[in-house]
Amino acid sequence: MGRCDISASYNIIDFHTHLPYRYKEPSEAAARLLKEMDKAGVTKAVVIAVEAGVETFKKNVKPREIKKAIGEVMDFVSLSRIPMLNRLVFDIEAGIEDHVSLIEEHRRTTGEVVEAARYSSGRLLPVASYCPDKGIDGTIEENLRPFKDDIIGVKIYPTLHFIQPNDSKLDKIYKYVADAQGIVVVHTGCDPGMWELPRLCRLARPKYVMEAAKKHKDVVFIIAHMGAYSALMPGIFFHEALEALELDNVYADTSAVDPFFVNRAIEEVGSDRILFGSDYPYMIGFSIRDSVNEILSLEISEKDKRAILHDNPYKLLRMIGRL
Ligand SMILES: [Zn+2]
Repeated sequence: MGRCDISASYNIIDFHTHLPYRYKEPSEAAARLLKEMDKAGVTKAVVIAVEAGVETFKKNVKPREIKKAIGEVMDFVSLSRIPMLNRLVFDIEAGIEDHVSLIEEHRRTTGEVVEAARYSSGRLLPVASYCPDKGIDGTIEENLRPFKDDIIGVKIYPTLHFIQPNDSKLDKIYKYVADAQGIVVVHTGCDPGMWELPRLCRLARPKYVMEAAKKHKDVVFIIAHMGAYSALMPGIFFHEALEALELDNVYADTSAVDPFFVNRAIEEVGSDRILFGSDYPYMIGFSIRDSVNEILSLEISEKDKRAILHDNPYKLLRMIGRL
């Protein structure tokens, strides 16, 4: 993004990053991420694990269901020229295998993220991932409890995990997080690959996060991507995110959200519970600095920009005793 640099005069916290996937060694991945943060004036970053289950994926993905999902939005699919979607159209079995490789390539376990954070002098704040193949108890025993002093919460990916955020099965995890004074991050909107199809991302709706947040008032829920991310239909569930933000224990991050929707969210619900997130390194061709500049270029007040980049993340981390 060729543009002049605007920099903030305060420390920034990025509430949504992942480990760079080209560096498999946690120490190297941490070094790379910290370098990106330094270039953007980001002092701390929430770094989120990604664990999807191949077994769960294979159990849930049925060719008939995919064909139906494609059929519903065929015009968009042909126009979009998204390679992974095209492959599903022309060779469904091969397309499904592509997704298995994608899941395996991008897996970043909770353990790896915690280890990377240990090389960061406290600058990286790890968030564990729910793992559908391990199940509820397995996730608590293997991904949460062993890392309880390191992690600040857990992430649910309703798309990759095939689970609705207000499914009562998750209550046990939410209760664990409440006791540990943590946060729950929920992916909302579409996701790359087959999850760009509205039928297949339908579990990732902010209205389900809202239901979970009503039931678990002692847990802070973060709606990642404001329900807006979608290559085929940008803003797909955005209106539901606005509604959910009426609740005191619901926040939303700006990661992978078009500036148009960030501006609108602030107009409609204010900036109090909006957190800056870059989704680095998943925004291909976009550095953390580019994401910071995008916030600084919004048509909102300086006070709102500062709230998103600094004040709100600090307040939230202080609230959960991590600062
Ligand atoms: Zn992400």
